[in-house]
Amino acid sequence: MVVVLENNATDEEIQNIVGHLENFGFSIHKSQGVQRTIIGAIGVKPDFDTRKIRILKGVYDVYRVTAPFKLASRSFKELDTVIKIKDVEIGGKNLALMAGPCSIESEEQIFKLAEVVAKSGTKILRGGAFKPRSSPYSFQGMGEEGLKLIRKAADEFGLVVITEVMEIAQIDLIAKYADIFQVGARNMQNFSLIKELGKAKLPVMLKRGLSGTIEEWLMSAEYMLAQGNKNVMLCERGIRTFEKYTRNTFDLSAIPVVHKKSHLPVIADPSHATGLRDQVAPMARAAVAAGADGLMIEIHHDPENALSDGPQALLPEQYNTLVGELRLIAQAIGRDLV
Ligand code: PEP
Ligand code: MN
Repeated sequence: MVVVLENNATDEEIQNIVGHLENFGFSIHKSQGVQRTIIGAIGVKPDFDTRKIRILKGVYDVYRVTAPFKLASRSFKELDTVIKIKDVEIGGKNLALMAGPCSIESEEQIFKLAEVVAKSGTKILRGGAFKPRSSPYSFQGMGEEGLKLIRKAADEFGLVVITEVMEIAQIDLIAKYADIFQVGARNMQNFSLIKELGKAKLPVMLKRGLSGTIEEWLMSAEYMLAQGNKNVMLCERGIRTFEKYTRNTFDLSAIPVVHKKSHLPVIADPSHATGLRDQVAPMARAAVAAGADGLMIEIHHDPENALSDGPQALLPEQYNTLVGELRLIAQAIGRDLV
């Protein structure tokens, strides 16, 4: 931690700051510049609250040198984490595509879409059975009935299932049917839920919160890693900004930032990031070019009548065209899409 002092900090104030730092267990390196004095506080304390120093008289600012997350950090584990689920790898050279409807709506719907997914070469089928909707009057998902249907459709076409878990009470039920837990944006900092998922056997895809910083997102991943679940992947799905033309603002730069800071795979979700069908393919292509380890894309054969997120769902033929384009981009950057 680096403590920068005010230009006019008095000797007494500096003594007081040094005393506090020593009491907190830091060893001190003082550097007297022409303009400013800087104190280097040495000691690894990932959860130290820097405000305890920032409020002291004579302090101009305090900067952290090391990140507060450890197990999620690239310095803890240099090599990329590769998550293996049946014959699917997430985080390796091959791009992991996930596609399917926003919500599981019926047996006919999920079977139709599972066939589209499988025929495109995509290995992971998405579909929500428990839906976090902004309105209590909107469709809330089919619950266990939906889980049974997505499992049946996935088994028919040899696919892996990812579905959202909204609360602790759903964990055991969902684990009976799914292969990957999805934590939705609204639950990124539901610490009791993510702690429990850290003890679960299945991999987890952690979506970035609506206004989650990259550090907060990685700290949430850290919660699960600290509980023993090493199979955690992140998902950039757009953040809330002042911009209104898109549902969210797709933070494409989060992909290289996370890759630099962490070894965990990063999936991109251009469907929720943009909210409109015509913007999904361009942002999907951009995400692969930016180094995403996979994509999550919503598709629907009859989006006008979809029970949720129809306007952002790609039609099956649009999805197939996109997969062909992604294959070319993957090759251009030394990755595969099989
Ligand atoms: C979803 O994937 O259907 C979903 C609700 O996503 P998010 O949590 O990103 O809004
Ligand atoms: Mn959706």
